[in-house]
Amino acid sequence: MTVTPAQLRALASRAETLTAEVRELCGSVPAGSPERDHLGAAWHAADWLARGAEDLQHAAEDLARLRSQPVCGIGWGVCPEHGNTLSSRAGVSTCRVCRLEWNYDRLGQPCREPVTWKVTDPAGTETKMCDGHVLGARAAMGSATFTRVDAGAEQW
Ligand SMILES: [Zn+2]
Ligand SMILES: [Zn+2]
Repeated sequence: MTVTPAQLRALASRAETLTAEVRELCGSVPAGSPERDHLGAAWHAADWLARGAEDLQHAAEDLARLRSQPVCGIGWGVCPEHGNTLSSRAGVSTCRVCRLEWNYDRLGQPCREPVTWKVTDPAGTETKMCDGHVLGARAAMGSATFTRVDAGAEQW
């Protein structure tokens, strides 16, 4: 189950519509009529709905920011902490070191961990990868340069 920024934006726009409808309804009561005095709670509700719409928009933005963070993308999964230590059986991947389990074939899928390292081999080729993958790369590419990158840092 994945939540998308678009879904949150859709909810936000429904909250905005509701806000407008409540305000329109309350506003349709002529000034000075007795009903007007009894709609305080409804006006209040409209304010809350407006605030809810704003919060939903913020959540959508936060999520969009997360989605735009580059992911490792190397062709197989790793344990984020231990690297190439996964074994996969019957659709379940397990880390041989920490015994952490993923209830899908993590090993068989491209890595979705955030990029945290830039690895430059002696020929100058750069590969960006996650914490888990860099462990294997350190072992395999001793002569490469490893540079820590932080998400959102200048390197992007
Ligand atoms: Zn592990
Ligand atoms: Zn990775």
